Formats: sequence, C-alpha cells, structure tokens
Amino acid sequence: MNEIVSIDKVLCTGCGLCIQKCPQKILYINRKTMTCDVTDQSKCDRQGGCEEVCPVGAIKIS
Ligand code: SF4
Ligand code: SF4
Repeated sequence: MNEIVSIDKVLCTGCGLCIQKCPQKILYINRKTMTCDVTDQSKCDRQGGCEEVCPVGAIKIS
C-alpha cells in the first residue's frame, strides 16, 4: 500500500503545528507515543502544508 503521509517518529516532537495546518484534519497526536499520526491517508490533499510548518522536517508527503 502506498503511504502518502510519512512521519519520522524519532524526529517528531509532538508540537502539533502540522495538525493546526492540515485542512483535511487527518493529523493527530498519538497519546501512546506523543508523536504525530495520521487517521485516513486517502483524504490527504498532498499540498504539503504540514511539511512547510514542521520545524524539524519530520513529516513528508509523497
Ligand atoms: S499534505 Fe495537507 S492534507 Fe495531507 S497531511 Fe499534510 S496538511 Fe494534511
Ligand atoms: S509539525 Fe512536525 S514535529 Fe510537530 S507534530 Fe507535526 S510532524 Fe511532529
């Protein structure tokens, strides 16, 4: 299966900036790992708003 949104859980600080930016509301903080995660990849608009705001380059759109 193609992964559209990939998140590096080591780099991610859980700051939540990408969540605020995401127009599709598919990003959230996973309470177990306290890092960002995706609900429904298929709803991603692939515009990369999350990539632009991530301060550590942890989220990538392909
Ligand atoms: S590319 Fe857009 S829709 Fe997809 S996860 Fe990032 S901000 Fe959300
Ligand atoms: S903006 Fe980057 S560091 Fe912050 S929660 Fe999103 S992926 Fe993680």
